[in-house]
Amino acid sequence: MNRIYSVLALLVGLLGVSLFIISYQNESMFMLVIGALMLVLGILLTVFIMTMNLYNKDQEFDSEGLKKQGLTIMNCKSCSTENVLEDKYCRKCGEELEE
Ligand SMILES: [Zn+2]
Repeated sequence: MNRIYSVLALLVGLLGVSLFIISYQNESMFMLVIGALMLVLGILLTVFIMTMNLYNKDQEFDSEGLKKQGLTIMNCKSCSTENVLEDKYCRKCGEELEE
């Protein structure tokens, strides 16, 4: 999913640059404005994707780090996903966690 967004951001950015070049050759103010907008959109998309990637990394389950924090790691009874017992509910299926 993230790969699609990356390609999209790159395409929008490239489109912006192309429009800049076209507007320079045609001396078209309209193209220049659209090109600038595309470029800004491309940058915004890139920033958005980078933020999403950071967020996803935070969501990764770090059982070793959690154990060091003194939390109990256990597997869910119904889907066997690793969970923190203190969370009370499975992070994948929502089943209540019991020791
Ligand atoms: Zn579960």
